[in-house]
Amino acid sequence: CGIFAYLNYHVPRTRREILEILLKGLLRLEYRGYDSAGVGIDGGNGKEWEANARSIQLIKQSGKVKALDDELTKQQDMDMDVEFDVHLGIAHTRWATHGAPSPVNSHPQRSDKSNEFIVIHNGIITNYKDLQKFLESKGYEFESETDTETIAKLEGAFVLVFKSVHYPGEAVGTRRGGPLLIGVKSDHKLSTDHIPILYRSSGKDKKGCPTLPRMEQDTCHTLFAEEKKSVEYYFASDASAVIEHTNRVIFLEDDDVAAVTAGRLTIHRIKRTAGDHPARAIQTLQ
Ligand code: GLU
Repeated sequence: CGIFAYLNYHVPRTRREILEILLKGLLRLEYRGYDSAGVGIDGGNGKEWEANARSIQLIKQSGKVKALDDELTKQQDMDMDVEFDVHLGIAHTRWATHGAPSPVNSHPQRSDKSNEFIVIHNGIITNYKDLQKFLESKGYEFESETDTETIAKLEGAFVLVFKSVHYPGEAVGTRRGGPLLIGVKSDHKLSTDHIPILYRSSGKDKKGCPTLPRMEQDTCHTLFAEEKKSVEYYFASDASAVIEHTNRVIFLEDDDVAAVTAGRLTIHRIKRTAGDHPARAIQTLQ
């Protein structure tokens, strides 16, 4: 399937512009899956971006990206001219493996009917039946037939991007056995040159507890000098979906967790590999 997400930080964009960027990204990735498509965006129409981000709206449709586009134009209650200073929108084109193509089986999938947490997924969760049984015994309700709905505890191959009403303007993405990259666009050179990587060290302290992740020293101060600089991030399954916006990209490795908080991208990596350096994490596509 195709994964795409767009996050702007202190770059004012109307909902119309944000949806255009998301749909364009999906069109580039449509060759990866075209039985259904969906987006998860901030739902409110007020002037305060943060309040708007406390309610998530899902728009999903079976069929091609064009069908989703038509569905979006039918949404009467969405103000297309409302401007967001900060916004995260996530988008998906599906190639169904579990559950027939339908609006409810399309992604994003959600934690509950209030859209508290939403996720888009590329891949297969092989232990999803066991997980579903376990979660149902704990009182969780499932609405779709997808494996994706069980994401809490998973085995298999996956690329995931999450969005939540509790973290306005923040994105989390991870991958195992499938592709995910992040395009970074900013007028500020430092934002695109210094992406901190936190290594999950396998060390133990005296009490036997795992030691805390370690931040690369040389990126610490640039990180704090970066407050409030405007920046845009594009999460995508492949570079063709971001190249029209930026040629500065980071290819995530298996089990990396990438998080954008307050406009800053941090990559959490399980262990340092030879030649790994934050300043080299970002590449310039030709
Ligand atoms: N296994 C998931 C589903 O069927 C994701 C498929 C995909 O990668 O599009 O919903």
